[in-house]
This record gives sequence, C-alpha cells and structure tokens, in this order.
Amino acid sequence: MDRRNFFKSAALGASGVMLGKTALASSGSEQESHLVYRTLGRTGLRIPVVSMGVMRADNPNLVRAALDRGVVLFDTANNYQRGNNERMLGEVFKDYPRDSFIVATKVKPTGTDRQTGHLTSETDPEEFDRMFRTSLERLQMDYVDILHVHALSSRQAVTYEPLLKKLEQIKQDGRARFIGFSTHKNMPGVIDEAAESGFYDVILTSYNFQMADWKEMNDALEKAAAAGIGLIAMKTMAGAFFDNDRTRPINVKAALKWALLNPNIHTAIPGYTSFNELEESFSVMEDLNLSDDEMKDLRLARDEASLFCLGCNDCLGQCRKGLSIPDLMRGYMYTYGYRAYAEARALVTSLGLPSEPCSDCVECTVTCRRGYQVAERISRVAKWKDVPADLFMA
Ligand code: SF4
Ligand code: SF4
Repeated sequence: MDRRNFFKSAALGASGVMLGKTALASSGSEQESHLVYRTLGRTGLRIPVVSMGVMRADNPNLVRAALDRGVVLFDTANNYQRGNNERMLGEVFKDYPRDSFIVATKVKPTGTDRQTGHLTSETDPEEFDRMFRTSLERLQMDYVDILHVHALSSRQAVTYEPLLKKLEQIKQDGRARFIGFSTHKNMPGVIDEAAESGFYDVILTSYNFQMADWKEMNDALEKAAAAGIGLIAMKTMAGAFFDNDRTRPINVKAALKWALLNPNIHTAIPGYTSFNELEESFSVMEDLNLSDDEMKDLRLARDEASLFCLGCNDCLGQCRKGLSIPDLMRGYMYTYGYRAYAEARALVTSLGLPSEPCSDCVECTVTCRRGYQVAERISRVAKWKDVPADLFMA
C-alpha cells in the first residue's frame, strides 16, 4: 500500500463486517452497544473486532467489565507480570462458563538466536511443554483456545520441525484448540512463511497506521488471510505517545480504527488498563470509518518519530556490536509508551547486554528506517539490566 492508498484504505469502510447489538449485562441498562463481528479465519470463531490485550491489566474487575461489555477474546502470555497475569485471568474465568470466552496465551521457546531469530539446538520442546502446563495451571483450565508460540521473527523458526511436532501433540491432546504465533519483528517474512506452511490457525502481529505504505507487510496479511489464517492485530496504537514524557498522545481511537479497516484483520487486542480506555476502545465499533479529523491526525502521526519500532529488521546486522536493535527499541516503547516496566526489564535483561553498550562507539553505524537515534534510546533502556527483578513482584 503506497502513500496515496493510505487514505484509500481508510475510506474502504467497514466492509466484510456484521453489526450486532447487545444489552449491557453489567449495568442491566437498556442502552445498547454495537458490536462488529468477524470470523477468525479457519478457526470459525465469530468474535468482536475489539478484544482485550491483558498484558498490562492487573484489575480483575476490568476483565469482568470487558466480559460484560461483550469482549470474547482475551490475550495473555506465560511471562506477563511474572505469571500473575495468567493467575488473575484464572481467578476471573473460573466463575464463567468455559464456552463464554476465548483465551489465548503465549509461550516463548528457549534457544532463540536474537540476531537471526532462528530456533537453535538449545530449543527444547519439552521445556516449552512444561511452561505451557504451568500456564494451564495458573489459568485453572484444561485447555486454552489459542496457544501462540511467543515472538517468532524468522522463517526458519516458523517451520522448526521439533517444535511443530510438539505443537501438533498439544493440539491432539486437546490442550489447545488452535495453534498460532505472535510476531513483532520481520513480520512480512514470518507471516508469508506461515501462509505457505499451512500449519498455523492464527497469527498475532504488530500492525498499525505506520505500516500503511509497507507493501510487503500488507501483501503478507492478504496472503495469510486468503490461506485461512485468523489474523489478530496488536500494537495498533503505535506506542500510544510521540514523546517519552507522554505529553503528546497519538489518537489511539483513530489508530485502532485504521487497523480494523483492513478486512484481513479479524480482531485487535488494545491493551486497555482502565474503564475509560475500555469504553474508548469499544466505541470504535459504533462507526469504524475514519472522520476527516481522524485521518488528518493519522496523516500527521505517521511520518513523525514516535516510540514505536516497526520491527522491519532493516537495521539487522548494522550494529558493530551485534546488538538486537529491534528488541531494544521494543523495550524502549514498553518503558516510555506503555510504562510496562516489568516487561521492559525482562526483555532488556534477556538480551545479555554489556553495562553501557554504546559508550565506546565514536559513531553509531545503525541507520533506522524511521530515523530514530538508536544509540540514545539504547543508553536509556539498557539501564533496566541494573534494576532488581524484585521491584516488580506483585
Ligand atoms: S552506538 Fe550502539 S547501536 Fe550504534 S553501533 Fe555502537 S553499539 Fe551498535
Ligand atoms: S530500522 Fe528502525 S524501525 Fe526498523 S527495526 Fe530497526 S529500529 Fe526498528
């Protein structure tokens, strides 16, 4: 999609969607709320286009409010909030019929090469299975609806045979109804590979208005949707703010609409953490079309530096010390955009950085597609590795 088509796509309208209405169960109010449904690819699941990314939420009443409001799909991960995110969902969901919600969790395989994204001989499918069993215990469930392999970023990882065998076994055991993966780095390549492989039911991918003219990305989504893969968008808010001090917010409602105007995206998982944000996200279903003002906001926002790294991998191999720049930039967005400190720390410490990684470089050799000064951002975010994990114990 080129720049001209950015607005053409915005004007496509909410094609391929169906409007429904539901009473607000929590309030008993007569007020009705519009829900827009799509089918999540070959899973056949009919779900509202607004789901819930639970990563930063720690209030069980917010999850209950989302359920009452009509949210069906809830996205968590084995490592979110050091397991407490799954525990919280388990405590909430135990009071609801199992067929009234869809839960997706993610498990990260060991042994990922940070530079290439390849799974290696250190990747242990049995360890993956152990971690998944822990997730099921925390969730107090016999099965999840969707099990994602967490954060795949290379074609090799998508088709890594030992892990595929384990995933197939988990599905046959009935411990996961559907298998997917999440990706926020090198997405076009991995999505294309998944469309070719025919193995995966679902993909959870970064996707937002800053990718409007990224042809490979939009082509890959189209190919995957045509292959029957259910596509879920994350990072639709592109970091939510332009600046570190969070004084200049992105128009997150317009940003969410933009992602959902692509009919190949079946649902999105905005990470609301308050009742107001829940209402704001839900309100996009009243009219998915972008107003002139919203289009203007996005037009201005798409070319401006923000906290969001595309994950395009253009900078791969440019750092003379081999630092994993996209992962560090994601840590930067978690820190300043989402204030998801535990996740930022966990990500940065997993990279095994030296204490001041950029301090002895006279000149940075990395050129970012978005024009980010990566060395300056790295110097800020690298400090996480000196912060004790205990600070984030819940
Ligand atoms: S300044 Fe940092 S990011 Fe740039 S080349 Fe040196 S180590 Fe790599
Ligand atoms: S080139 Fe820039 S936007 Fe692309 S992955 Fe590297 S840091 Fe992110």
